[in-house]
Amino acid sequence: MTDRLARQRQRLRARQADRFGRMAEQVHRHNPFYRAKWREAGFESPPTLDDLADLPFTTKEELARDQDENAPWGTNLTFPFERYVRVHRTSGTTGKPLRWLDTPASWQWFLDCWLETYRGAGVEEADRVFVAFGFGPFVGFWTAFEAAQQLGCLAMPAGHLSTEQRLRVMLDDGATTLVATPTYGLRLLEAADGRGLDLAGSSIVRTIHGGEPGAGVAAVKRQLAEGYGAMVFDHAGATEVGAWGHPCGVGERLHVFEEEFVVEWFDRSTGEPLEPVDPTASEAAQPVLGELVLTNLGRIGSPVVRYRTGDVGRLCAAGCSCGRATMYLDGGVLARADDMFIVRGINVYPSAVDALVREAGGVVEYRASVRRRRQMAEVELEVEPEAGMDSGSLRSRLQDLFEERLSLRVPVRIADAGSLPRYELKANRFTFLD
Ligand SMILES: [Zn+2]
Repeated sequence: MTDRLARQRQRLRARQADRFGRMAEQVHRHNPFYRAKWREAGFESPPTLDDLADLPFTTKEELARDQDENAPWGTNLTFPFERYVRVHRTSGTTGKPLRWLDTPASWQWFLDCWLETYRGAGVEEADRVFVAFGFGPFVGFWTAFEAAQQLGCLAMPAGHLSTEQRLRVMLDDGATTLVATPTYGLRLLEAADGRGLDLAGSSIVRTIHGGEPGAGVAAVKRQLAEGYGAMVFDHAGATEVGAWGHPCGVGERLHVFEEEFVVEWFDRSTGEPLEPVDPTASEAAQPVLGELVLTNLGRIGSPVVRYRTGDVGRLCAAGCSCGRATMYLDGGVLARADDMFIVRGINVYPSAVDALVREAGGVVEYRASVRRRRQMAEVELEVEPEAGMDSGSLRSRLQDLFEERLSLRVPVRIADAGSLPRYELKANRFTFLD
């Protein structure tokens, strides 16, 4: 580590310690959920950042149980209920939806974190930002939209518009920046293609993707970049955590916004903490996949401390060539931990399957079913080919790729055009038949 980077890291740590201390002080005094948890762990007075490793983890199941037992809002509230002005809900992809309340200050903190994503993607005041999500209790739309407005951009909602209408608005009103899930970004391309519309030649100069892993998968990113003729950026956040991950423009790197989040790295199989990979080490660093554990420092109204995010990726130590002193995920979030399966002793995630399908090319949409309780996981694919694609050669191309990369024989079924589901928010292409 260079001296400059070491100094930057030191300053960052001091800032985190100060913010953590102030948060813990209020939370220990007024927040019933954390006060009980911390007292049980032996903390009669507010913990400091140095105590973090001795504090218990927080899980989504635990928060859901708390909201069940103390319906409807649960007890993770630092202030009187009257102070809260917004409520959002998680998508419920992994269980029952959580309700999440914000005070004006907590909400502004969330937007400030989102601004890092816009800055990392080079978004400026003159940009027109089209946010292609419906209005709903999903926090992603509101934060992306309001943060764009606060930056001085023209914020363009997509609301209830159909995919075709969205394409028209983007093209007619000169959107420069598209915010969408990677899946929906591809869906818009497919729809434009079917209508003879040219997105690559449009005013869109960049796309920003969140809501699911994907924009960090090189093959998906390439498809988006070519389709829009644009730079493609990744973003990561969660309703209960905040907008924690932002791009910097170097490769497929997603920085953790450490000014506002303390990051820990955790090996799910051993239950032990992990060290981030040092990409500058002389020996080639082995990929270390772990689960991201986050503590947010500015959402005092309803914080998470040592939260097991369920997001899996490869954390690299600070020292990115972009000049930021924060750690980053190489390739972004690779998967949700619950979606993992094992093939010949190797962990496989849906994003690996996704990467191979995109690499094969010529696939409009697909669906996979995975039997993972067998001695060796079995995967079956159903694919919808692009118009004019020879389905026989697509099938053998896919089978060869899976055989070659994952040593996996994957039966491939060809689906009729338009028969597989399309997604706007969280793609749900994987069925796990246990
Ligand atoms: Zn960077």
